[in-house]
Amino acid sequence: MSLTARRCARLFLLVCCLLLSVSASAVSAPQPVRIPVLNYHSITVDPGNRATITPVKFEEQMTHLAENGYTTLTLRQFTDIMEGRETAPEKPVLLTFDDGYADNYTEALPVLSRLGLNATLFVSPGVSAADPYFLTWDQIREMHEAGWDIQPHGMSHPHLPRLSAAKQEAELTEAKRLIEEQLGTTADVFCYPYGEYNRTTLRLLKKAGYRYAFTIKQGVTLPTQDPYRLTRIFVNGEESFETWRNRLEKAYQP
Ligand SMILES: [Zn+2]
Repeated sequence: MSLTARRCARLFLLVCCLLLSVSASAVSAPQPVRIPVLNYHSITVDPGNRATITPVKFEEQMTHLAENGYTTLTLRQFTDIMEGRETAPEKPVLLTFDDGYADNYTEALPVLSRLGLNATLFVSPGVSAADPYFLTWDQIREMHEAGWDIQPHGMSHPHLPRLSAAKQEAELTEAKRLIEEQLGTTADVFCYPYGEYNRTTLRLLKKAGYRYAFTIKQGVTLPTQDPYRLTRIFVNGEESFETWRNRLEKAYQP
């Protein structure tokens, strides 16, 4: 083979290798992990209230997760995955419960404990203490000991943007302080009451040491999202099991 022919052959091989590596990386390029964050409220029988789900339907959904290869993340796993410190399991899902209804203790806790599923609870301690409809500290403590992550949802579940900066700050810091004091844990993931916030809220959250905040904006959660504007998927208790399952499955598709 002449020198020129050899050079040509080498060049041809080099181009082939480059093309192969480009196409291989196009095929195997990692997609950003998609984590459906399901948003539940009260587990009770209350026909017409789409924010509640009956205990029977709730158990059906949880059993489906337990028996079909889903991994319900702890909040720590969730934030580690979001920050790239941990690889996501195949079908990750974060279960969140807002407001701290007493039925989360009587209905959700036993089901999740039996099935070995993890969950995160967002409570407004100022509300919980005053109303028997909401969890007591003893119940919250028991859920915490059973593995639930307990995090703040404001002190009194206010419409934050309607408050002065000083009052907003009290709502954010007091709820955090109480949870940390009662449970000896770190409370640095917030959930906006009514999904409402403004620029002041965002500034004060960061100042208070919160690392993440969940909205009620609908959609699957991605590590590329603003950590203070995380989306969730509202579970409409009026919908059928099939609609819920299809929405969940769709959330993993890019
Ligand atoms: Zn709420």
